[in-house]
Amino acid sequence: MAFSDLGLAEPLLKAVAAQKYNNPYPIQEQAIPAILSGKDVLGIAQTGSGKTAGFVLPVLQQLQTKQPSRNRYIKVLVLVPTRELAVQVGDVFRTFGSNLPRRVKSLAVYGGVSVNPQMMALQNTEVLVATPGRLLDLVSSNALYLSEVEVLVLDEADKMLNLGFEEEMQKIFALLPAKRQNILFSATLAGSVEIIKEKLLINPVTIEI
Ligand code: AMP
Repeated sequence: MAFSDLGLAEPLLKAVAAQKYNNPYPIQEQAIPAILSGKDVLGIAQTGSGKTAGFVLPVLQQLQTKQPSRNRYIKVLVLVPTRELAVQVGDVFRTFGSNLPRRVKSLAVYGGVSVNPQMMALQNTEVLVATPGRLLDLVSSNALYLSEVEVLVLDEADKMLNLGFEEEMQKIFALLPAKRQNILFSATLAGSVEIIKEKLLINPVTIEI
């Protein structure tokens, strides 16, 4: 299968070719069309499987046909367990998103560094990659609003729960609009991941690599 078989538009295909990705990985073959269809998606996949591009590419494509967000109203929220993963996923959004006809501004925010530069950088951000605690800090200072989020991605949900973020995650879910697309990636479905899955996903397309 080729990237051009997955429903991605030309600008995204060019961005993929520029990264020298020749063929999609199995998770990408399944996740990209599923996410483009607007359905909820459950992906059981490990780091190294190519899951990041599996959600970044279709999410960027969906944004191409949308009006830009009002300032500080993000459209896509990606929750991740760690600062390292936040930076990594933020980089993938930037790599694929910066040369598209409709530019999409993405930002990674995480704890352990001062909050002010992140608040300023949030200006016109549409895709936010965040660790749960820092996200809640920014929300409680009105630095951003979650009421227009259209897509929620939980990346490495099992790790997020293992690190004790369940309460923060639940608080965040309560702030999101009911109508949205949910995408959940986890290495396993063990323990509380199953509970989060039941709570969050409606008729998901399930992908297991
Ligand atoms: P991930 O599992 O998302 O962390 O991706 C693992 C690595 O695979 C990253 O370094 C990606 O740049 C690379 N990668 C992802 N998809 C492809 C692809 N289709 N072809 C070649 N490399 C890829």
